[in-house]
Amino acid sequence: MDSKQNSEQNFKNIKFESFFADIYKERWPQIFESLKKPVKHILRNNNFIQNDITLGSNSRCEFLLNTNWSDGTSHTLKNGLNINYFYKMDPASLIVAQALKIQENEVVLDMCAAPGGKSLVLAEGLKSTGELISNELSNDRRERLIRVFQEYIPKDLRTNIFVKGLDGNKYGLHKPEYFDAILCDVPCSGERHLLENLAEYTLWTERRSQNLAVRQYSLLSSAWLACKKQGRIVYSTCSLSPYENDQVIKKIKKRRDVQIVRDEQLKQYPFIEETEYGYQILPDTLNNVFSFGPMYFSIMLKI
Ligand code: SAM
Repeated sequence: MDSKQNSEQNFKNIKFESFFADIYKERWPQIFESLKKPVKHILRNNNFIQNDITLGSNSRCEFLLNTNWSDGTSHTLKNGLNINYFYKMDPASLIVAQALKIQENEVVLDMCAAPGGKSLVLAEGLKSTGELISNELSNDRRERLIRVFQEYIPKDLRTNIFVKGLDGNKYGLHKPEYFDAILCDVPCSGERHLLENLAEYTLWTERRSQNLAVRQYSLLSSAWLACKKQGRIVYSTCSLSPYENDQVIKKIKKRRDVQIVRDEQLKQYPFIEETEYGYQILPDTLNNVFSFGPMYFSIMLKI
């Protein structure tokens, strides 16, 4: 290891560490170490080609953890196009997208959608019925989102999917009470990614997390306006900061008519912890086996 790498590895942002040590107490050192480990991804079956291929007896399980296949392993359709068998994702992301419990014929918004793993899960729930608006503000990331749909869903099965590039804040005004279900997977501090980028890590301050929380609340308010009464909203971040998580939900609960939903099915996952208004998956939970998350999510019903 050269001296530059060495000094990068040893760099400490004292404010960052003491902020999270105050919150997570004696658990923090373990969480901090887990954040530096690579995420254990799963390869998720592409259910859009489920009936089109035969892979072998154990191939239709939900997750493939140890396999020689990669997410680029593809199947050639009769029209000559390649469709990928698997999507590589953090299991925590899969749980968040499934928490919206999409049903056929629903009208669904993925407000901040790229690169698109969660949108694929929502699209699968619709089974090519209803409508999915997959929205992403960044041009580059939207290109990637379009490619993901092209690589994973045969063209004739995605006529109900529309990729848009609006600022998510606009949906509340432009499409009030239009959607049955909305995923609001907002931009966040993402401490795992932060630790991979020395420049960003150096710039972290508590104030930055508070400022992000203001943007996140604004996106969630737009989602609330765009959601039908009795519709569902899942708000999520990959941040450990309470400002960006429960405190955003506390604020919307105070100002808008929302009911927090507790999903009994989530109890089957030992690595999901309840918070005041939602759920959290912390990266140290399955320490030495897998490192998932971090991920926070809250399930809401608009009343
Ligand atoms: N849901 C995605 C997935 O699972 O693949 C990840 C979304 S990522 C956490 C947040 C995304 O929101 C980024 O791609 C970012 O470019 C986008 N974004 C940031 N501000 C936005 C805004 N005002 N409106 C819509 N999208 C925005």
